Amino acid sequence: MKIAILARNANLYSHQRLAEAARERGHEVDILNTLRVTLNITSHRPEAYYNGEKLERYDAVIPRIGASITFYGLAVLRQFEMMGVWPLNESVAIGRSRDKLRSMQLLAKAGLGLPVTAFAHDPKQTDDVIRMVGGAPVVIKLLEGTQGIGVVLGETEKSAKSVIEAFRGANVNILVQEFIKEAGGTDIRVLVVGGKVIAAMKRTGAPDDFRSNLHRGGSAELIRITPEERSTAVRAAKRMGLNVCGVDLLRSNHGPVIMEVNSSPGLEGIEKATGKDIAGTIIDFIEANARPGKTATRGR
Ligand code: ADP
Ligand code: GLU
Repeated sequence: MKIAILARNANLYSHQRLAEAARERGHEVDILNTLRVTLNITSHRPEAYYNGEKLERYDAVIPRIGASITFYGLAVLRQFEMMGVWPLNESVAIGRSRDKLRSMQLLAKAGLGLPVTAFAHDPKQTDDVIRMVGGAPVVIKLLEGTQGIGVVLGETEKSAKSVIEAFRGANVNILVQEFIKEAGGTDIRVLVVGGKVIAAMKRTGAPDDFRSNLHRGGSAELIRITPEERSTAVRAAKRMGLNVCGVDLLRSNHGPVIMEVNSSPGLEGIEKATGKDIAGTIIDFIEANARPGKTATRGR
């Protein structure tokens, strides 16, 4: 097969591993810098160009679109879909997962566990919002945050109020959540490929941090998950419509709760923690499923 990887930085571990696993299996791979792909959007035969050359037909595309270039990246992916290239994750599903609020609404409606979460526009509703999630301590999150930036613990009613008011003053959207203290600064990343759990790791934050992000100095180790956690992750992936994703869970005393569903999960931490060839499993999934012209939505 001829496979394109859409990625801004070809040198990242995840992208290198995916390219390597595909080449080992005899496929031809191009890593394209997403931001350097240009699109002719008026032709009735959709076209994409790279460094001035028209991109010829790929059999499959692996989108590795970072959160900061979601808008342009999804336009490029949509164009590939319209050209009949089979996407590992569809543009529509990635767009859905990038909107935290929309994702949580969909996951909650599907009956999946989430931390008690409130969202309000009007700063006058601050007291209501804190009360709705059970009072302080609460976690306050920037809706557009990634890698734990913009996730704040409001330990008392007073500090929670001032954080909420500060964010509001900056005119950004926030979520207010119950603080899952019993998770103890640890979360679980479950990697789902093609509706199956292929790996799971436990991430623990730096000693003085309630956030477990590896980017924030956390550490990862292999973990056995419970059947309930497994089914939560699989159902979340299915509801989001993602073939490949990382589902982040917290162990709360009301069962597993979903933090987020990441459509471009990093491979380094989880391959190292589990010793598994996850890139290879992803390429095997592509081999078994990629069919030109077969995208469920074609970008619609
Ligand atoms: P990001 O998408 O920026 O990584 P998350 O929502 O995943 O933000 O939060 C980052 C980390 O903070 C999580 O992995 C988890 O360890 C911790 N965390 C987030 N929300 C809560 C919560 N409601 N209760 C306890 N810990 C939380
Ligand atoms: N860097 C990737 C992203 O932000 C993945 C991070 C992770 O796996 O936590 O989309």
